[in-house]
Amino acid sequence: MNKIYTPKDLKKNPTLSSLYKDSRNKEKIESSLHHKTISISEIDSISIINNSKILKKNNESNIFRSSLPINTSYNNLSFMGLQGMLNEPIFNTKLIMEKEFNLFDLEKKVGHQNVLPIMGRTMLDSFGLIDEKIMPIDKLDPFLYSVSNQYYKSTLYHNSLHGADITQTICLFFNNSNAEAVCHTQAIDLLSIIIAGLGHDLGHPGLTNTFQINASSDMAITYNDSSCLENFHLAKLFKTIRKDETNIFEKLPLQDYKKIRKRMISEVLATDMAIHGKVLNNIRSKIPDYLLQEKNENNIVKEKKFELITDINNEETTNEEKQALLDYFIHAADLGHNTKKFDISLKWVELLSREFWLQGDKEKKMNLTISFLCDRESTNVPKSQVGFIGGFIIPTYNYLVVMFPSLSYTIENAKHNLNRWQKLADEGRKKGWSPVKIKIDLTNNGKNKDKKKIVKNKEGFLKKKANVVEIKIE
Ligand SMILES: [Zn+2]
Repeated sequence: MNKIYTPKDLKKNPTLSSLYKDSRNKEKIESSLHHKTISISEIDSISIINNSKILKKNNESNIFRSSLPINTSYNNLSFMGLQGMLNEPIFNTKLIMEKEFNLFDLEKKVGHQNVLPIMGRTMLDSFGLIDEKIMPIDKLDPFLYSVSNQYYKSTLYHNSLHGADITQTICLFFNNSNAEAVCHTQAIDLLSIIIAGLGHDLGHPGLTNTFQINASSDMAITYNDSSCLENFHLAKLFKTIRKDETNIFEKLPLQDYKKIRKRMISEVLATDMAIHGKVLNNIRSKIPDYLLQEKNENNIVKEKKFELITDINNEETTNEEKQALLDYFIHAADLGHNTKKFDISLKWVELLSREFWLQGDKEKKMNLTISFLCDRESTNVPKSQVGFIGGFIIPTYNYLVVMFPSLSYTIENAKHNLNRWQKLADEGRKKGWSPVKIKIDLTNNGKNKDKKKIVKNKEGFLKKKANVVEIKIE
């Protein structure tokens, strides 16, 4: 069943011929004939793809059966690459929505460009949003691949994996708490935050707003030094949505389109660290004092129900209250790698540090002021991580846990990570390293420094044993 069939085989093969006669499959197969190869498994999955209800009931099924790019004329993907994976029950929807999910493992299995589309489809499906009443389903894969392809793989941190990662973090907030009930979420709210999450850093060049402004870049001139990147990402995202072949919002009535656009603009702009205080103050104003005081006095959050919506009949205040929570969710998730398990968090820190240092190199060359954390010669990664987690992450996530105590695992991980970084900083100071610079090599560079051992757990999910990451401080 898993042999790869070329377009020529496809026409000759009797099993395929019968499928080909089915008019429902015919159109899809014909469109696929223009491409390299197609497998039987993919053809089997067509009916599932076209029926979100079946997919919904079959949540445990191998997601590749529901996520394969059927129409790939808009990207350079080969079905060949995915074919091998169909043999193994490696991932399913449930695993992608787990707290411990490691998307770097998924990347190794499916390839960089496929991560965002696979995860995007899984997340939309888990909220029941893959529905013809909401969106034209045949435009979803073209849209997801277009988003994935507009991120630069060469941007080490702010690439499509980051877009997929923060969206998964947001979905975890909803999945592991009563946030949906508290927010009285409607399909349009969830759709807005998932699409905004996936595209929130679209086309990121790996150079910060500070760089754009200092370099008087085109982006800074276009957006008048104000949230340059965030405005740029939004414009790219809506230009993609506007295109006929990727217009996933085309079924929305104008009023709903306006509503979702307004939501998404607010959400993506909320990822600008320049307005960190504003986003936090806004959500703080929605949390009753007694919830915050209780936490401060007893250090315990009692099981009191947090209410976000003050008057469900008042559309204006309800919209504003929902927006405050959605903006806060995307902003917190954007910083969320620090609330993941240390080995995963460490990979993100490495990628972000290396992206910053490349910016620093560029700033040096251009005789610009080297931005904070961007000087590879003087950046003290453990120390800056301690400062960042203590000064930004924990205060940000405190509000999350006050509102939704079941999400306390985020703060626990952040505190654990802070301790790990503190130990590294102390060790460096004791040994007289100055500056303490952490050197992490996760890419191996052909030298096999990363002594990881790959094993499979009972679900067949690739899992690394301890001692995954070698940390060197010089
Ligand atoms: Zn981001």
